[in-house]
Amino acid sequence: MNRILSAGLAALGLLCSIVSEAQVDERKQIAFDIIERNADQIATVGDVLYYHAELGMQELESTKFLQETLEAVGFKVEMGGAGFPTHLWAQWGSGKPLIVIVTEIDALPEGSQTPGSIERKPLVKGAPGHMEGHNTHGAVAVAAAYAVKRVMELYKLPGTVAISFGPAEEQLVSRPFLVRAGLFKDADAALIIHIGDNFSTGHGLQNYAAISAKFTFHGKTAHGAVNPWEGRDAVDAVELMDMGFDKLREHLRPSQRAHRTITIGGIQPNIIPDLGQIWWFVRDANAPWAKENFDKLVDIARGAALMTGTTMEMEVVASAWPQLGNRVLAEAIQKNIDLVGNPKWSAEEEKFAKDFQSALGLKAVGLNASPVKFGARPQAFASNDSGDVTWNLPTGNLNFPASVPGVNYHNWQAAVTPTSSIAHKGEVAGAKVLAASLLDLLTSPALVAKAKEQFREDTRDTPYFSFLPADAKPPLELNREMMERFRPEMRKHYLNRTPQFN
Ligand SMILES: [Zn+2]
Repeated sequence: MNRILSAGLAALGLLCSIVSEAQVDERKQIAFDIIERNADQIATVGDVLYYHAELGMQELESTKFLQETLEAVGFKVEMGGAGFPTHLWAQWGSGKPLIVIVTEIDALPEGSQTPGSIERKPLVKGAPGHMEGHNTHGAVAVAAAYAVKRVMELYKLPGTVAISFGPAEEQLVSRPFLVRAGLFKDADAALIIHIGDNFSTGHGLQNYAAISAKFTFHGKTAHGAVNPWEGRDAVDAVELMDMGFDKLREHLRPSQRAHRTITIGGIQPNIIPDLGQIWWFVRDANAPWAKENFDKLVDIARGAALMTGTTMEMEVVASAWPQLGNRVLAEAIQKNIDLVGNPKWSAEEEKFAKDFQSALGLKAVGLNASPVKFGARPQAFASNDSGDVTWNLPTGNLNFPASVPGVNYHNWQAAVTPTSSIAHKGEVAGAKVLAASLLDLLTSPALVAKAKEQFREDTRDTPYFSFLPADAKPPLELNREMMERFRPEMRKHYLNRTPQFN
């Protein structure tokens, strides 16, 4: 009797899970249809942002445009989080779970380029440009959030979907501050998106920890020939710091990376410099190791000051924890990547990609036809300050295929395609995977619980601590002068289009 009863219950359970899975599929399909019918609007969002091309901390017109776009489709928008005038937080819905899309929209210096031209042809000479394609992030985030909102309305789903556009990702600035201000403390999970040349997700450590700091030495000036014994040479301190770190290198773990540039190096040889400055980036495969290396670097700076009779001032400019990909969320994202599949590239797009690759002296492999296999994404050596978010709540990451393989970011060549049909198709595909993953999280408490369990396990031995000094403040002046110099000329190229989502 008991066996029959339990078999019956099991069958009922199976039936329920089939019904709910079918329902989930139906919801995802509706989201996909909404995204497809808004393909032109999505492209408009990405393209408008491309021409704004604002540097970190100065994303004023970009966030104004996103605020208007998101408010027009019913989202509540708050600007200015954690003291960043260009931090935008948009949200819709009510109650739990709260799932937040984490991304950025800043451009890079000297990246201005005429879209589609594989010859170097800046739109505005010397101006910033989207030579990584963060403009596409805005398109994907808005599209997915909008589609999910529509599905939630239709099915009366509880929960909240949010987007956090963090300022100045390219300089690793804002996320440690956003975390410190508690912006993510009520969120149940986060999804990070980034442009790539293919679909991929990953779990475990996804990239490197980094701390960027400027060391300024103050000495005493004197004539190099008349009274050098009265001088205290601040550039000597810079040099000794450099030498000291080179001695240390041998005793650091092989995984470390450290690089520096001398930003103030004196005036002319017969003036003993009373001011010297050196700017360092210290990186390692995980945050505690990077911090350990950094603390040794600070000791070396103190030693250099002592040796030269100068004084030393340190400013932490930026920092990032390595991104921690939550395995449970990565598995969910991968299922959605497999469901959506890579965009169907046209013969024309393939030909353009191959011609472009050939022109750059690369192998003409064309565009990627299928997603990266699960588990095949190695830890990268670069850093992204959204890493700090990932050690505070379960986070999945998604790269979407919207650029040409082999074309390196942070190079004007990568500014050729972020408004092309390749980027547009990638935005649509990326938005579908993001929307489907949001729906998974919004409709499955079990998935959220499992992701939280995975998070607790992953962070048990490495609790988050901030790299930020207690008195650190957002660098409000960062890039202001450069952006104000170029914006009037750049404005002539603005698209002045308004997306009309339906
Ligand atoms: Zn980026």
